[in-house]
Amino acid sequence: MTLTLNYTYRIYPDNKQEAILSEWLEICRRSYNYALRELKDWISSRKCLVDRCSLESEYIMAASYPFPSYHQQQNQLPKAKKVYPELAKVPSQVLQTNVRRLHDAWDFFRNRGFGFPRFKKYGQMKSLLFPQFKSNPLTGWQIKLPKLGKVQINLHRPIPDGFVIKQVRVIKKAKGWFAVVSIQSDIILPEIEILFGHFLGLDVGLSSYLATSDNYVEKGRKFFKSEYRKLKLLQHRLSRKDKRSKNSEKARKKVEKQHNHIAFKRKDYQFKLAHKICDMGDSIFMEDIDFRTMAKGFLGKHTLDAGFGQFRDILKYVCKVRGKYFGLVDHRGTSQTCPNCRAEVRKTLSDRLHVCHECGYGVDYPVDRDVASAQEVCNRGIETTTLGLREKETVCQVEVSGVMSLDNWRRGIPLWAGISRRESGSPTHNL
Ligand SMILES: [Zn+2]
Repeated sequence: MTLTLNYTYRIYPDNKQEAILSEWLEICRRSYNYALRELKDWISSRKCLVDRCSLESEYIMAASYPFPSYHQQQNQLPKAKKVYPELAKVPSQVLQTNVRRLHDAWDFFRNRGFGFPRFKKYGQMKSLLFPQFKSNPLTGWQIKLPKLGKVQINLHRPIPDGFVIKQVRVIKKAKGWFAVVSIQSDIILPEIEILFGHFLGLDVGLSSYLATSDNYVEKGRKFFKSEYRKLKLLQHRLSRKDKRSKNSEKARKKVEKQHNHIAFKRKDYQFKLAHKICDMGDSIFMEDIDFRTMAKGFLGKHTLDAGFGQFRDILKYVCKVRGKYFGLVDHRGTSQTCPNCRAEVRKTLSDRLHVCHECGYGVDYPVDRDVASAQEVCNRGIETTTLGLREKETVCQVEVSGVMSLDNWRRGIPLWAGISRRESGSPTHNL
């Protein structure tokens, strides 16, 4: 298995290059829509009976007309270039990947049953993919793109040794232009499948962004408040402009820019947090919550703002790159269970502390409820990965660990405090 990383850099095309890129985006948008039209026509023509005249805008294609598959449409591109010479302005590989993109969306729809590809409105096509490079396109402060020439790039982070540039995606955002450079290396990262080192359970939530089983609580989240206030102001201003006017367009750009700004800030924060977590532990567990269902609840807006799903993906990625174990555990009832004796401890949303009257955990000294549920996540992570591997005995697992924890409690050691010393030593790999 090869290792692929995506590095994002800001690029600064000059006015001429910017005009060319915008033109390419527009051409790609039209060809995307054309290909989608063909696909849609084919589908609707199969919906209506061949010997009928369609009364409702159904279009009948010849029965022998093949399904416009990716290869079919891609092969038609050279012919189409003769009819529409402007297509030739765009590098042919970019056009091909553009068609590929439509078919990826189509396959996605077929597999999942929703998300039929849509026509893209003016300005909705925002990225171009350059799928292949014969030689290294990067020269210190410039990137060389086919048919466009050298574009200034801010290489704020060097490409690591041993990596080859596979593809480059150029993206237009309100903040400016960006290049996502995919780099690949043949080095083999060991898939971390066994627990090792220090164990760490995580609990994410709204009152505190994140709590770990080591009693670390990350507040976070509220620092977006001022950003959202600004966004609200800008959106209000936009709503008061006449639609389709120049001023409205300017205001719209400002709103988009602010959205970008918030998304960048959040991602930056999440990456830093993920590295912090990796500094604190070696085997990391998180709950398997579907955050999309959570976002449908009454705190939906705040859940979306926090971007837990994205954080989980980022953490998983950072763990992989840094050689840490990452595991997901069953989320049900983690906040209602005592991590020390595993008894059920009912809490309402307003109970901020965990107090267990069964074993006395949290009676003498305060234990944050989020920390308690992070400790429970940690317990479950260890059970499912170490004990759960011994097949079929899973039924008695809970009891086994319960006994263990009770023993620990009698000796005055909480369960989660002793476990992290079970194994040590971290696997090494060459990066
Ligand atoms: Zn207890």
